[in-house]
Amino acid sequence: MLEAHAVSHTNVEIPPGWRDLVAECHKQLLQIYPEYKLSQVKEKFGGLRYYVGPIPKDLATQFYATVGEFEDKSYQICQVCGEPGHLQLIGTWYYTLCQVHGDETSEWRKNRWA
Ligand SMILES: [Zn+2]
Repeated sequence: MLEAHAVSHTNVEIPPGWRDLVAECHKQLLQIYPEYKLSQVKEKFGGLRYYVGPIPKDLATQFYATVGEFEDKSYQICQVCGEPGHLQLIGTWYYTLCQVHGDETSEWRKNRWA
């Protein structure tokens, strides 16, 4: 169980392509529980991770289902530009990217590690 002070520090690093996705997620979550506290947003293994403060038990099922829905959606949206994308393993890292940014990232890694 998180203490209130543990979520007072917000750490948000939203990949540019997911800004609209995160904004829509936030909007829907506010409708479920207007007092919810956003704790952290980041990209991990190519997918969106959305962390929040404590949610009342009676709202938790609906709340976390909505979070999960948006986390799932992130695997179909390029994290760089917001166009349709898919999960790709480039080098040792996972990214969700469109064709253009997938190629660009592969190229960048090749040059960097060559
Ligand atoms: Zn892209």
